Amino acid sequence: MMKQKNVNKRHLRNDILLIIVLLLVAATGAAYLFLFRGFGDVVKVTVDGELYGVYSLSQDRTEDISTGEDGRQLNRLVIREGKAFIQTATCPDGICAAHRAIFRNGESIVCLPHGVVVTVTTAQTQGEPDVVV
Ligand SMILES: [Zn+2]
Repeated sequence: MMKQKNVNKRHLRNDILLIIVLLLVAATGAAYLFLFRGFGDVVKVTVDGELYGVYSLSQDRTEDISTGEDGRQLNRLVIREGKAFIQTATCPDGICAAHRAIFRNGESIVCLPHGVVVTVTTAQTQGEPDVVV
């Protein structure tokens, strides 16, 4: 009876160990995906669905995206420390400027009034729709 109990306990411990190992493997895989595949490396800017420009996230820059009649509509795209955000915009709702900085593959900032879409993507998959989970 006593012996049986010990065997069971050891069995249970092995099971727990196995689960921990499996969890670690899963976590490592997820971390790998997150670190090496999760981040995009360029931002693609489109205006009314037309490609406006592609900018590397690894280089700080400020880009004034002029749209509309006489280019009077402005969205100032800023890339800083690997993240992209709209610093200022002349659109009435200001939603794009209020959006947090984006840097993960598939993330985007949309300015509906100006038809401006800024999307993080990778240079390799550019042009193909990315599946975002
Ligand atoms: Zn806007």
